[in-house]
Amino acid sequence: MHIILFGPPGVGKGTQSKKLISHYQLKHIAPGNLLRTQIQQQTPLGKKVAQYINVGKLAPAQLVIDIVMQQLTNTTLQQGFLLDGFPRTVMQATQLDTQLARRRQKIDAVIILEVPTEELIKRIQRRATLEGRVDDQEPDKIKTRMHTYQVHTLPVLDYYRSQHSLIRVCGVGDEQQVFTRIVRALTQVKFTT
Ligand code: AMP
Repeated sequence: MHIILFGPPGVGKGTQSKKLISHYQLKHIAPGNLLRTQIQQQTPLGKKVAQYINVGKLAPAQLVIDIVMQQLTNTTLQQGFLLDGFPRTVMQATQLDTQLARRRQKIDAVIILEVPTEELIKRIQRRATLEGRVDDQEPDKIKTRMHTYQVHTLPVLDYYRSQHSLIRVCGVGDEQQVFTRIVRALTQVKFTT
């Protein structure tokens, strides 16, 4: 199972990823989590990316691609994986496909979580208090992330649409309800690799 969990900031990708990787025993590839850890540990990489991530901008493309490719390389061919927050640009999506083709693998499904924008903003504001994420803190940063999603990330769906692997799932409701919807949707997918 090689799946992408896709959707705007605050839609619940992190929460659902945790449940999915545990349910299906998948490797979790989430560059955002990894970069946040680097920032907290004040490593050279963390210092480099903080200026982007902390204000809600995308981290430099090549840097993120390198991280994801490294994680893929560390994944055995038998192991399934879930990409959470990657790809976020069409360039990242094409590079991912190239790398997967080298491994004779492909993405089986892209699950798009959907929640109305007003609800997303509320969720991000709630998370700002609960988790203290710097990029959740101010309206300007949230606006930047929403804008980046619209301009750079949504076009990724057009890229995948041509491969007929998109599954839209309603992300409104409690965690378990959304999880059940995703699992149900995944039963319709033909896993070929
Ligand atoms: P996330 O945890 O997925 O919401 O990611 C948090 C932040 O990490 C994003 O706002 C970006 O600054 C950075 N980031 C995560 N994934 C990517 C990506 N695929 N491309 C560029 N930046 C990313």
